Amino acid sequence: MSIVLLTFFSHNLSVVRHVADDVMVMYLGQAVEHGPKEAIYNAPKHPYTIALLAAAPTVNGHKNDLTLQGELPSPLNPPSGCALHKRCPYAKQQCSEIEPQLREWDGRLVACLRLEEIYG
Ligand code: SF4
Repeated sequence: MSIVLLTFFSHNLSVVRHVADDVMVMYLGQAVEHGPKEAIYNAPKHPYTIALLAAAPTVNGHKNDLTLQGELPSPLNPPSGCALHKRCPYAKQQCSEIEPQLREWDGRLVACLRLEEIYG
């Protein structure tokens, strides 16, 4: 028995959904959410993943209403702390000061400082 591992990079969420078992969502070169495809597509947890899927309403047949503010910063000069903090509707002061690390949350890994407050 052999196991084949392939890494596939794409901005096309429909294609990713069809070819991947495991999905890693990245923002400015950093992983923000990583886990099984079903978990991420059916119930995204990171604000960037939610906004990304909201921008592609045909992917899972429903549309979330989370939209990001502002423009994509330069990857050559990313914001301090969480790279999403200037665009995230959930951002607080700590988000500009602390770089979140991937941690286990609801069956996947998520890099967000405020998961407990957002999801209770
Ligand atoms: S750490 Fe803060 S800015 Fe980053 S995704 Fe979480 S709530 Fe938003």
